[in-house]
Amino acid sequence: MKILVVNAGSSSLKYQLIDMETEKVLAKGGCERIGIPGSLLKAKGNGGEKIYNQDMPDHKVAIELVLAALLDKEIGVIKSMDEIGAVGHRVVASGEYFKKTTLVTPEVLKTLEEKTFELAPLHNPAAATGLRACMEVMPKTPMALVFDTSFHATMPEKAYLYGIDYDDYKKYGVRKYGFHGTSHKFVSSEAAKYLGKKPEELKIVTCHLGNGSSITAVDGGKCVDTSMGFTPLAGILMGTRSGDIDASAVEFLARKKGMSHSEVVTYLNKKCGVAGISGVSSDFRDLIAGAEKGNERCALALDMFAYQTKKYVGSYAAAMGGLDCIVFTAGIGENTPTVRAGVCDGLQFLGVELDEKANNAPNDGSIREISSKRSKVKVLIIPTNEELVIARETAELL
Ligand code: ADP
Repeated sequence: MKILVVNAGSSSLKYQLIDMETEKVLAKGGCERIGIPGSLLKAKGNGGEKIYNQDMPDHKVAIELVLAALLDKEIGVIKSMDEIGAVGHRVVASGEYFKKTTLVTPEVLKTLEEKTFELAPLHNPAAATGLRACMEVMPKTPMALVFDTSFHATMPEKAYLYGIDYDDYKKYGVRKYGFHGTSHKFVSSEAAKYLGKKPEELKIVTCHLGNGSSITAVDGGKCVDTSMGFTPLAGILMGTRSGDIDASAVEFLARKKGMSHSEVVTYLNKKCGVAGISGVSSDFRDLIAGAEKGNERCALALDMFAYQTKKYVGSYAAAMGGLDCIVFTAGIGENTPTVRAGVCDGLQFLGVELDEKANNAPNDGSIREISSKRSKVKVLIIPTNEELVIARETAELL
């Protein structure tokens, strides 16, 4: 079976067509600037690449163009739309409405649109738009919703509750949900495979360090805690997000800066993090270059990022009562030796020992073990593959 994985944003739509027998990516690409002049689709398939400069007023036109690329004479990989067994849609937030991957029915669509939009006002409406477009263009093809939050559904109440009035949690659903679940799930299960162990035997901390970053405690194959919260703003500081901050400081900042509630939340999401600390960039390549030239605020931003990550690793080792493995993944986790070294430095007391040479070796896209032979805790770099998890979950559901 072939599964189409769709990740729709408000003005973008990324896709991959995956053959589930081989788990190979047959074709992939993305539409940019949907609904904005100058829209285009960059599509890869069949060993070739093609750019479609075509007006895409909405997501329906975008998905029609994606199908045209999949059927294209040169770069196409299928002969008929019927070859697509199902479509898996990435959805950021499920609230408490969906605990796992869900087949789309009219009722499911209604719940998605009526209940979850306020939980992820930027992402979920975009996913629903992409879903509706696919349903129109491919009315007979089953559609699945795969949530970033599902893997975190196993967290115990003591881990996901905030210290607020319990009735308010019940009434409004204000609690920790967590994000990047597909990535944490993928890399933790790959780690178990790599180590030749059953997931049930392992206590793993997975560090998904990208523009958005989250850290998860995976005990026996199940998520028991994670650093992001009600929204992806929580946890460690990120590219432009502040991470955890005292709620009273937020009110204080809003007053001082003359901002409304929503303006201060936008500020904390878009203007803070390592970009705010360094005053230079949210991109770690720029921060490393800056720090190497002696920019102290770039160095401080890198230091804070590693320090905060380390604190989560330590606290999750405590929460699980042990630690067998640390996994680094995503743009920064896979590509930045200084961050990995900064995180592991000081964790020797837990039995973590890095192999400096292995840590500094260039990223070749494979799974790499960067702990020393003596290290009690294995430290791995595992490239994430969220699309494959979405495709697997969709296939399993069918
Ligand atoms: P997201 O998917 O959340 O947008 P990514 O996982 O792509 O983010 O990660 C983006 C981050 O990864 C950026 O800060 C970027 O600097 C960093 N990154 C990507 N490639 C490299 C690299 N080769 N060296 C250092 N940092 C990198």
